[in-house]
Amino acid sequence: MTTLMRESRLTEIPFVDLRAQSRALHDEYEGALWPVIDRAAFSLGPELAEFEEAFAAFCECGYCVGVSSGTDAIKLALLATGVGPGDEVIVPVNTFIATAEAVSHLGAKPVFVDVLADTASIDPQAIAGAAGDATKAVVPVHLFGQPADVEALQSVADERGLVVVEDACQAHGARYQGKRVGSLGSAAAFSFYPGKNLGALGDGGAVTTNVLETDERLRLLRNHGQADKHTHAVIGYCDRLHNLQAALLTAKLRHLDMWNAARRAAARRYDELLADVEGVTPIACRADAEPVYHLYVVQVDDRDRVRDELGEAGVQTGIHYPVPLHLQPAYAHLGHGRGDFPVAEALAGRILSLPMFPEITLKQQERVVATLTKAVARR
Ligand SMILES: *Cc1c(COP(=O)(O)O)cnc(C)c1O
Repeated sequence: MTTLMRESRLTEIPFVDLRAQSRALHDEYEGALWPVIDRAAFSLGPELAEFEEAFAAFCECGYCVGVSSGTDAIKLALLATGVGPGDEVIVPVNTFIATAEAVSHLGAKPVFVDVLADTASIDPQAIAGAAGDATKAVVPVHLFGQPADVEALQSVADERGLVVVEDACQAHGARYQGKRVGSLGSAAAFSFYPGKNLGALGDGGAVTTNVLETDERLRLLRNHGQADKHTHAVIGYCDRLHNLQAALLTAKLRHLDMWNAARRAAARRYDELLADVEGVTPIACRADAEPVYHLYVVQVDDRDRVRDELGEAGVQTGIHYPVPLHLQPAYAHLGHGRGDFPVAEALAGRILSLPMFPEITLKQQERVVATLTKAVARR
């Protein structure tokens, strides 16, 4: 019994494997951490400035401001681009709840829109219909690491005078029409939650922008509105990125292009292995995008049973996301019901995220696909 259990443990295929990175980067972490600890400069130190410069360069963007999380990055990006209490902000319903929470934290109101059936990404046409007099901004989410159709939604945003703030929390390094995400709108929010493509060893986030005044405003807002030692120009927040995390992130950033390339290679292998499997449809990839596959998502019938069978065979999977935001109890007060966003609701019952991380092996992927093929055939 014990041996059997040990064996099935050994052959588990994890959904993500963060320990592989920790093992590989052990020495680099030490080299990054000790200088900060020895100088005891833990807040707003030179390592933060160094990381901000490196991440702005990575995003091919003018400015980067390190903040405490991706959620706070969205909140501060909206605030710095002019969104405030009572304003409306358009948000897709298929995203992590933080996209809407950040809007609510400002006393603004999220206005939900549906997504596209093939890419599961925000529907640019739906934005025009949702925008009213109080609408100030739209937050496209680069879901699963694939850029949203920014060109289409920017033209709607321009017509309506809306600010575009990218939620790039799943898409560090992705390209849209050759340009890196983070430089496509007025500002962009990134998360360094441990499981993201670039993860801190704890929480962290950043806002990127090409506008100097937005950068300056963000620096005030993240640090108690402090203009100089005893002058607080605005009521701000305690939303700084820790210096230690910044030092670690600079070390990890050197590997990010390679990790993203490994994710793309793994995604191509899944595409090939799944090409002839009936009943499994990968989420479509835009021809003008270079995604970074934070997640590799497929659609299947009978998803919950298929997922259970994969789990029993030791293949861990995820669902992103099983409940669209308009059906979450937290947003019940907006008065939506089932049927309001039919595309997202249909996707929610069919999507399945397969194991995806830079170190995943061909053997592991072949087993995922073999197990999945068996599960979808059994009906
Ligand atoms: C992770 C994530 C966030 C929030 O980031 P945190 O760092 O966890 O606050 C926001 N939006 C999306 C799409 C995310 O995946």
